[in-house]
Amino acid sequence: MDVIQAFDRARAAQPGWARTSARRRAAVLLRFHDLLLTRREEILALVRQETGKVRPHAVEEVLAASVVARYYGRRAPHQLRPRRRRGVVPVLTRTTELRHPVGVVGQIVPWNYPLALVVSDALPALAAGNSLVTKPDSRTAGTTRWIRDLMVEAGLPEQAWQLVTGDGPVVGAALVDQADYVCFTGSTRTGREVGRRAGERLVGCSLELGGKNALVVLDDANLERAVEGAVRGCFTSTGQLCMSIERIYAHADVADHFLKAFVDRAGELTLGRDIGPLISADQLAKVEAHVEDAVAKGATVLTGGRSHDLFYEPTVLSGVTPEMRLYAEETFGPVVAVHVFTGDPAHLVNDTAYGLNVSLWTRRPARARGLAARLRTGQVNINEAYGSAFGSVDAPMGGRGDSGVGARHSSEGILRFTEPQTVAEQRLVPMGPFALGPVQFQGERYEELMVRVMRTLKLLRLR
Ligand code: NAD
Repeated sequence: MDVIQAFDRARAAQPGWARTSARRRAAVLLRFHDLLLTRREEILALVRQETGKVRPHAVEEVLAASVVARYYGRRAPHQLRPRRRRGVVPVLTRTTELRHPVGVVGQIVPWNYPLALVVSDALPALAAGNSLVTKPDSRTAGTTRWIRDLMVEAGLPEQAWQLVTGDGPVVGAALVDQADYVCFTGSTRTGREVGRRAGERLVGCSLELGGKNALVVLDDANLERAVEGAVRGCFTSTGQLCMSIERIYAHADVADHFLKAFVDRAGELTLGRDIGPLISADQLAKVEAHVEDAVAKGATVLTGGRSHDLFYEPTVLSGVTPEMRLYAEETFGPVVAVHVFTGDPAHLVNDTAYGLNVSLWTRRPARARGLAARLRTGQVNINEAYGSAFGSVDAPMGGRGDSGVGARHSSEGILRFTEPQTVAEQRLVPMGPFALGPVQFQGERYEELMVRVMRTLKLLRLR
C-alpha cells in the first residue's frame, strides 16, 4: 500500500483508539496473548517458512512475544496514568504529569526475529493509544500480516495498524518522513540514516541496532553449563540474532577444558535439525568473506568453516586479530572467535564500538555483578547467553554506542511512544510578587521571603 495512504488511514483511526480507555486497550493485548499461544502452530509454520529457523528457535519467538503481550497487557494502564508530581511550592502548586500518545508511530523491522521484534514495539505503541504503520522486511511480511490480523481479532480497530512493504531506502524513508515517532530495528548503517532523517523532522526515534557481543568464561565457571550457554548464544537462529555471541573470552585456567568441549559440541550440531540456513545468498557471502579474510590473515578454524547451499557450519576460530574483519565487524552468522585471557576481562569486552549484550559465566554471581557494572553494554546476562535479559521485559533492552539509541521493554519502552505534558496549577498565592492584605511582598521584601522559603524547603528535606 502507498505510504501516504497508510498514514492517512492510521491518522484517521487514531483519535477514536486513543479515546478508548487504557484498560480496554490493554485488554486487547491480553486477548492477543491467549490467541497467540492457542494458535502457535500457524505462526510457527509461517516464521519457519519465511526465515528457515528450526522449530526450537521459532518457539523462542512465540514465548518472547507472549511475555511482552502479558507485560504491557497488565502494566500499560498503570504506566500511562496521570502522575502527581511535586509542585515548585508545596501545597500552593498542584502539578500533574500527563502522557499523550504521539499520534502515528512508524515501525521499521528486519527479517531475523519477525514475530518477537514486531510485537515488542508494536504492542506498547498501540497500548499507548497510538495508531501504527509497520514496514517489515519484504521476506517476512507474511508474519507481520498474521500478527496484525490477530490483534484485529483480539479487538484492535482494523485501521489502527497499517502495513506497508517494499524497498527499504524508498518505502522506509517515506515512512520516516510521515511518522510522529520512528521505531527502527536493523543494521547500524541504516539506523544512522533513519536517525538523521528523523532528526531533520524533529521527531523522536529509537534505534535498536547491531552488536559484536562477548561471552566471558571466568575461572570459576561451571564449564558444562558455560559450553551449553555458548552453543545457544552463538548458534541460535544461525547466529542471526542481534544479541548473538561472536566473541568468547575464556580464562587461561579453564580455556583448554572449555574450548575442547565447546568445539566438540559445535561440531556435533546437525545442519537442518539443530541449525537452519542463512536468510540469503548475500548473508552467506558475508559470512564466507569474514572467515576467508580471517584465515588468509592467519586465523585457525577449529571447527566448521564450510557452506552447504545456504547452510553454514557452526564455526569456531582462534588467532583472530584486529586487522581481520571479523574481529570488530558484526558477522551475523554462526561464527565465533575465541580468545584466552588472564586478569580483568573488562577492557577486552569493551574493545568494540558496539554495546548490546554480554554473557558472563561464574559460580560467584556477586563477582560477575561487579564486573557487569564496568561493561559498556545495554544487557549483561550472568550464567545465561541472552534470554534472561531479553526476557526480563520489566527492565529496558537497548544498546550503547553503535548498538543504538533508546530502549524497548519496561516503562521506557512504552513512554517513548508518548508526549509528556506537565499541568501545574497555582493556588492561593501567585508565583511573582504579591500582596497579603495590607502587606506588600514586592522588590527586596519578596526576594527575602523567597530566599527564606528556599532555605526552609531544604531544611524540610523537600526536593
Ligand atoms: P537493515 O538495516 O538492512 O534493514 C532493516 C529494515 O530497514 C528493513 O525493513 C529494511 O527494508 C529497512 N531499510 C533499509 N534501508 C532503509 C532506509 N534507507 N531507510 C529506512 N528503512 C530502511 O538490517 P538487516 O540486515 O535486514 O537486519 C539485520 C541487522 O539488524 C543486524 O545488524 C542486527 O544486529 C540488527 N538487529 C538489531 C536488533 C536489536 O534489537 N538491537 C534486533 C534484530 C536485528
